[in-house]
Amino acid sequence: MGCGMSLPTGFTIFGNDITVKGVRNLTDHDGTGCEGLFHPDKNLIEINTVYCEDSQMASLWHEIMHAILDCHGISLSKDETFVEAIGQSMWQVTKTWEE
Ligand SMILES: [Zn+2]
Repeated sequence: MGCGMSLPTGFTIFGNDITVKGVRNLTDHDGTGCEGLFHPDKNLIEINTVYCEDSQMASLWHEIMHAILDCHGISLSKDETFVEAIGQSMWQVTKTWEE
């Protein structure tokens, strides 16, 4: 059962056009499997599509938080615990948004 949301192709953060790409069996530069990556040099977010839609969206929000912090030159981007907490929270806010 999906969450009813799917990966966007991109968006803009603070004037930076960020591209989002789904990659099956995504690995980092060490060849270690990972759920998502943000490449600040390319303004590119890659999301591992081997996981379910809900996990992909959670990973997307995690990488969006890296992108936001990096675009503003905020070094908290290196704090994975912080990035994970706000990424997960933003995903929950988006999912449970009531109008
Ligand atoms: Zn991270």
